[in-house]
Amino acid sequence: MTKKIFNSIFCATLAVLLISTVFIGSVLYSYFGNMQRDALAEQTGIVAAEYEKNGEAYLTAFSSQSYRITLISSDGTVLFDSVKDATALENHLGREEVTQALAEDSGSSERFSDTLLEKTYYNAKKLSNGNIIRVSHTKSSVYSLLIGLLQPIAAVLLVAFILSFVLSHRLSNHIVKPLENLDLEHPLENDTYDELSAVLSKIERQRKTLLKREDELKQKNDEFSAVTENMNEGLILIGTDSEIISINSAARKIFLAERDCIGRNIITVNRSPEFTDVAGKCIKGKSSDCLLTIYGHEYQVNANPVMIDEKAAGACILIFDITEKSRNERIRREFTANVSHELKTPLHSIMGAAELLKNGIVKPEDEKQFAGRIYDEASRLVTLVEDIIRLSQLDEGVITEKESVNLTEVAKEAADSVKEEAASRNITVAVSGADVQISGIKRLVYEIAYNLCDNAVRYNNENGSVKIEIESTQSGAVLSVSDSGIGIPEDSLERIFERFYRVDKSHSRETGGTGLGLSIVKHAAEYLGAEITVSSTLGKGTRISVLFPKI
Ligand code: ADP
Repeated sequence: MTKKIFNSIFCATLAVLLISTVFIGSVLYSYFGNMQRDALAEQTGIVAAEYEKNGEAYLTAFSSQSYRITLISSDGTVLFDSVKDATALENHLGREEVTQALAEDSGSSERFSDTLLEKTYYNAKKLSNGNIIRVSHTKSSVYSLLIGLLQPIAAVLLVAFILSFVLSHRLSNHIVKPLENLDLEHPLENDTYDELSAVLSKIERQRKTLLKREDELKQKNDEFSAVTENMNEGLILIGTDSEIISINSAARKIFLAERDCIGRNIITVNRSPEFTDVAGKCIKGKSSDCLLTIYGHEYQVNANPVMIDEKAAGACILIFDITEKSRNERIRREFTANVSHELKTPLHSIMGAAELLKNGIVKPEDEKQFAGRIYDEASRLVTLVEDIIRLSQLDEGVITEKESVNLTEVAKEAADSVKEEAASRNITVAVSGADVQISGIKRLVYEIAYNLCDNAVRYNNENGSVKIEIESTQSGAVLSVSDSGIGIPEDSLERIFERFYRVDKSHSRETGGTGLGLSIVKHAAEYLGAEITVSSTLGKGTRISVLFPKI
């Protein structure tokens, strides 16, 4: 800016200087020219008067370095010339001043010499005898003056040039300095040119508008971040060049990406062909989806284009963790297959025995035994169906309000239910512990206690024992069922809560087990927020504890 101002001032100064010089020069030249003309006219008057008085003698006696006298007849013939031989001179009738004088009694003209360096002024006057007396005066022309004055003019111009340069430089600095020191953060507090007040007020208004917009943008950005950062689903926004515009923390976690991946291409986050294909399609304006498996987790990727004015301006990619959903679906599929298998087995037995009875193949003395088998298998079917219904209810999440439940009482009820079976195999069942109240659903607490007691008896040895203990601890109420039974192999401990898993299938079936008891325990415990721990020694016994949360 300083340079621009400097150039403007400098050029303006030089232009003014040059124009003034030329103007003054031309005014002076014309002034002196006029003076010259007036003096010449006066001189011509004197010469004419003297000639009229003294005749030819005056002309021959006239000697002047400055003036030249010429006497011309009315037909243009030169009769006398004070400088040159009159006879050698051409006819002067065509000369401007002569023609003018012949017509108007006096005339004047000016002519440059051949080199333009000299200018001659002519003044002519008509005499009483009709002849013309002409006086001329030659002086240096403006051009010769210029050539003569070239050196001093150049010197003056040089000094003026230097002065203009220095002054322009100083002036431009002086003008620009207050502008450079302007505090645009506080425009109205500046002490500067009055002419800038309007501009500074406008800057202040625009600054306030900008600050407001910045605040609004920040607020919107914060809101967007608050929403996306707290989402469980991964969210990635990409631009038309597949560059990442935004990525939330869930997506970063899924792809193990860093925060600084913003601005990079989407393939830096995941290079799998399915993912890049989906991203590529949606920035071309086509919605698409795919499944991804990353570090043992399954994800569903949904990509949708972001359209602005019917043109794809980017894409929004959502990533859902469907590991749990897929696992549940797999479990449900397996469960359905297992249920049909488990239902078919007793039904086949029933059908087989009934067919033999129907066809009269069974001896009369064996009929009772066959009827008994049908009864047993039918009972198994009922138990199985009941267990399936219980599990389905838990799966469906049929929640009833929690109530205060006396854990000891429920444990005693469960113990009573298995006592008959225990007694038949000479197994003792003992309940110990003070009354402990918990917050739960009585039916579910009973399911837990009953299934644990049932297993403790079922997988016990003849003359064994089952201990049911209830205690109140710092962490909550604990129900423990220990038995002196066959125990569970270590590699099965993880799996006994799976549906239809049995360590020894034939033993479980023989004893009427459905393979669903511990699944019901697990689901009911989850429902009540209880924790299960299992410890077992093969051949010695098992202890399963359930910790119910504090009221
Ligand atoms: P089931 O109806 O077959 O008993 P559960 O789901 O109740 O089915 O138990 C799953 C498997 O865990 C049983 O088949 C059995 O092998 C094992 N099990 C459960 N409780 C005990 C226990 N107290 N002692 C030994 N094994 C047990």
